[in-house]
Amino acid sequence: MRLRVGSPLWLVHGPAPRRRYPTLLGSHDADVVIVGGGMTGAGIAHVFATAGLRVVLAEADLVGRGSTGASTALLMHETDEELGSPAKRYGPKRAARIWKLSRSASRDLIATLRRLRISCDLEECATIYWTSDRRLLLGGNDRPVAAPARRRQAFDAGTRKLRQYFETLLPALTDVEIELAWEGLFAITPDGLPYIGSHRRYPRHLFALGYGGNGMTFGFLAARLLLDAVRDVPNRDLQLFAFNRMR
Ligand SMILES: Cc1cc2nc3c(=O)[nH]c(=O)nc-3n(C[C@H](O)[C@H](O)[C@H](O)COP(=O)(O)OP(=O)(O)OC[C@H]3O[C@@H](n4cnc5c(N)ncnc54)[C@H](O)[C@@H]3O)c2cc1C
Repeated sequence: MRLRVGSPLWLVHGPAPRRRYPTLLGSHDADVVIVGGGMTGAGIAHVFATAGLRVVLAEADLVGRGSTGASTALLMHETDEELGSPAKRYGPKRAARIWKLSRSASRDLIATLRRLRISCDLEECATIYWTSDRRLLLGGNDRPVAAPARRRQAFDAGTRKLRQYFETLLPALTDVEIELAWEGLFAITPDGLPYIGSHRRYPRHLFALGYGGNGMTFGFLAARLLLDAVRDVPNRDLQLFAFNRMR
């Protein structure tokens, strides 16, 4: 399945990838195999390897070029749904814990980016629309996945809709042309929270998925939580994101 349409800013104007990774051939010994080299896989690989586990990361295409490459790149700690929604569903105590975990995951990720000196124009923004090179970045207009044959058409229609929104929002800037447009896939769960942890049908697998528009933060939270899961360290926070939480 194609994870992106269009030309994300980061892939067009970002630095060329500095490393090429070898094709995985032969047999290898590892404690954990991570499938997928997006934000989630990269975060998990870093956290696990730092903790001393031997990891193999398998990527079918190119590292960081899936949904991660399409992201608007905002490190937010709010969930997609307002705090009132998990509070209504799971009670205020659990909702507050989810919010705190998400906040500390975004701080943890920022600290890690700084510690590893990852050059990614990390900055705190008073407004979310301007990038460091003074480009205006406008996101939104989520819609269900279109059939492959209709995806380009749906993408063009979505771009036009966002353009109209932009002109309503900032009428003084209507002469600004669109330089780049793109879209990507993400999955939303019924309660707007990701699934992190084990699944009863797959006893030797762990999962991290379904973050909605918050994969940067939740992907990193998943890495921390899954480290406990893989080491069999009890962690009550895993229950907050368990597959069976909505029974
Ligand atoms: C338009 C858009 C804007 C967004 N904006 C934000 C934002 O501002 N902030 C935020 O936090 N989040 C945002 N998100 C969400 C965020 O980008 C995603 O949640 C996050 O990138 C998911 O990362 P991932 O590593 O799980 O998935 P991906 O980045 O899609 O990585 C999955 C990887 O797995 C590989 N793969 C799949 N199957 C296999 C296989 N069988 N074997 C080997 N490899 C495989 C794929 O090739 C891919 O590289 C946005 C998403 C979109 C689409």
